[in-house]
Amino acid sequence: MSDDTRVGILLVDDVDENLIALEAILEPLGQRLVKARSGEEALRAILREEFACILLDVQMPVLDGFETAELIKQRERSRHIPIIFLTAISKDERHVFRGYSAGAVDYIFKPFEPEVLRSKVSVFIDLQRKTEELGRQSALLREQEVAHERRVSEERYRQLADAMPQIVWTADRDGRASYYNRRWYEYTGQSPEQADESGWTLAVHPDDLPRTVAKRAETLESGAVFEVEYRFRAGDGTYRWHLGRAVPLRGENGEIEFWIGTATDIHDHKRTQQAQEFLIEASSLLGRSLDYVDTLEAVARAAVPAIADWCAVHVVEGGVLRQLALAHVDEQKLVFAEELQRRYPPNEEGPAAEVIRTGKSQLVPELTDEMLRSAAQDELQLDLLRELGLRSYIGVPLVAHDRVFGSITLATAESGRRYDETDLLFAQELGRRAAMAIENARLYHEAEERARAARVLQSVGDGVVLIDREGVVRLWNPAAARITGLDADEVVGQPIAEVVPGWDDLARRIPVTEDPGVARAETTPVEIGGRELWVSGSGVALDEGTVYAFRDLTEERALEQMRSDFVATVSHELRTPLAAIYGAALTFQRPDIELGSDLGGQLLRVITDESARLASIIEDLLLASHLDSGKLQLAMVECDVRRLTAEVVAAAETHLPENVVVVLAVDEDVPTVHADPSHLRQVIANLLDNAVKYSPDGGEVQVGVTASGGSVRLSVADPGLGIPAGEQRKIFEKFYRLDPNMTRGIGGTGLGLYISSELVRRFDGRIWVESLEGEGSTFHVELPVAKAPARRRAAAVSS
Ligand code: ADP
Repeated sequence: MSDDTRVGILLVDDVDENLIALEAILEPLGQRLVKARSGEEALRAILREEFACILLDVQMPVLDGFETAELIKQRERSRHIPIIFLTAISKDERHVFRGYSAGAVDYIFKPFEPEVLRSKVSVFIDLQRKTEELGRQSALLREQEVAHERRVSEERYRQLADAMPQIVWTADRDGRASYYNRRWYEYTGQSPEQADESGWTLAVHPDDLPRTVAKRAETLESGAVFEVEYRFRAGDGTYRWHLGRAVPLRGENGEIEFWIGTATDIHDHKRTQQAQEFLIEASSLLGRSLDYVDTLEAVARAAVPAIADWCAVHVVEGGVLRQLALAHVDEQKLVFAEELQRRYPPNEEGPAAEVIRTGKSQLVPELTDEMLRSAAQDELQLDLLRELGLRSYIGVPLVAHDRVFGSITLATAESGRRYDETDLLFAQELGRRAAMAIENARLYHEAEERARAARVLQSVGDGVVLIDREGVVRLWNPAAARITGLDADEVVGQPIAEVVPGWDDLARRIPVTEDPGVARAETTPVEIGGRELWVSGSGVALDEGTVYAFRDLTEERALEQMRSDFVATVSHELRTPLAAIYGAALTFQRPDIELGSDLGGQLLRVITDESARLASIIEDLLLASHLDSGKLQLAMVECDVRRLTAEVVAAAETHLPENVVVVLAVDEDVPTVHADPSHLRQVIANLLDNAVKYSPDGGEVQVGVTASGGSVRLSVADPGLGIPAGEQRKIFEKFYRLDPNMTRGIGGTGLGLYISSELVRRFDGRIWVESLEGEGSTFHVELPVAKAPARRRAAAVSS
């Protein structure tokens, strides 16, 4: 019998012989016999080990048997140990009673009967054995119960886990998967063999796997909660976003025993979030550029891979479908797709064309091979399309002003994603925002263009007006206001026929076309505000009405008129003396005429006079041209106006018409002026010539020289034709003549007064006329006095 199964028996006696005797008696029982020589020693032994029974001597020094028994009984652990008192003293009742009350189960009186002692002790040994057996059995029973309980509860948990719509799994402390719930198998389509300890790695999206593995390693190490967002592959090959979460379960000692994890489908949430993020990004991209090609390209790039694997944008430009942008994450595939596009350009049957034609969105959750087949033009295209692995697609129209001008196509391939109604809503929102951005850009460009056009209209020299279909003025640019003398405020919003009375007549004379490229201008006179204007105009008919552009040619017209008048006048002026000279010369040659000295002298005078006239006309022309070009050199000196005037009058008197007299009246004391004397003489002669010439009915021409203030004034007054008030300024213009057609037979080049006024201006003086038509004219020339610089300047200013 081994020590393990032997029970202990404590023998307590202060007498060694007794102990030896007891040992000898009990030896055959084959149990563990422990000896103690006092009550204290016995108590110590009890603290150390278990005993099936105690044989206790009653008479012992210090602690006797009774006291020792009482102490044993006081202790919880030793209370149940049976005590057999050994005594030699008495069997009286009192004594025995004390023994029982102290917890004895029996009394054995010395000297012992070995057989009796052994049998009594072996009863207790048996009892102890039975108790121990019972204890063992009940412990076993308890264990079995617990195991059953655990099995039941595990089963319950398993059922619970299986019933959950979430994926649930457990893993051992090293992260090896030990259990997947039913949802896992349903979702992944894995077989129990596949779903082994690392079966989950087959389901996680390859792009998400490295991140997941790293997180797992980190949490296995730290024992922190594992939390990761990843895509799980469904049985049909598509992926859905899940939120994976695992917590460690620890035993009593605090060690991780296993992990319990869940994976919640957050796909819709995640996709909404991604789509929203994409929409925000797309909106900011859309607002960034005003070039819609740039904008749509940027949006297509941003759509991949946020909401699509492929994104294409088509627009119709000039009736032709054009692909503006194509985006994909994989460069190589993109090149491949572009090649495909090159070979098979988008045509009228294509999905983009259909969306644009119908203006309706398209959602194809699952592209079947049959669909590809019907879309492909030939076997090669079908193969290429298959190569792309397209899975699902959405097409949305781009609409502005109720007109579909393009489409956005989103397609999935590698991601295995399948579009649904939610994606369609997002795509439509994207389409709306893109169309809006493009429309905004277009409006902006239009506004810019209008602003530019308005600026041009403000600054052009040509009058530009818009008359709407009702004949109301809608636009009247500043040049139009300047030319017509009518402000925009007065005319815009008013019927043109009211503000410009001769409008209808004018409009008939201005050619109107529908093509601005062939507009031809017509020059025509028009009377506006009592003024006659010559305008050159053309019109272009638009939807809003007619735009007329016109130019004021009044001055050019007048100049033109003047030029033709000049040619007529000058040629006449030249022809007259030439004819006279020619006539005189012919007379000389005539054999039938006897040239007496009188006639010969007269003819020679005609020739010299008319030659002089010719020379003076040509001189005037040259002088006018020199004045215009600024080439005239003046020899400015002090001149005596009195003397010069007297000389001119004297020269004129030699060939005055008979009915004209010239009266000269000069002040006594006339200061000198600063001028070029020969040219000043020309001015005086011209005024005197005109006075005589334009007094065809004769009379008295008065020439006066007076000093007034700081200047000297020369006046030539005639009783002649006079000059209408409206013409008094114009007669100083080059070639201007009141009577260009010479109805009164008075010739001239129209240069005399022009030359005079230009010369006087150069002498710092001024020239003007006072006249009443039919009542003669007085021409005045005022020149500043020489040697009085300050005054002279003042006079110049007053001119
Ligand atoms: P012209 O050679 O025609 O005389 P001028 O320049 O000297 O040219 O004069 C311009 C025009 O002014 C004349 O054609 C004439 O009509 C008008 N004029 C000039 N002087 C007189 C005058 N004393 N009386 C009336 N008309 C005049």
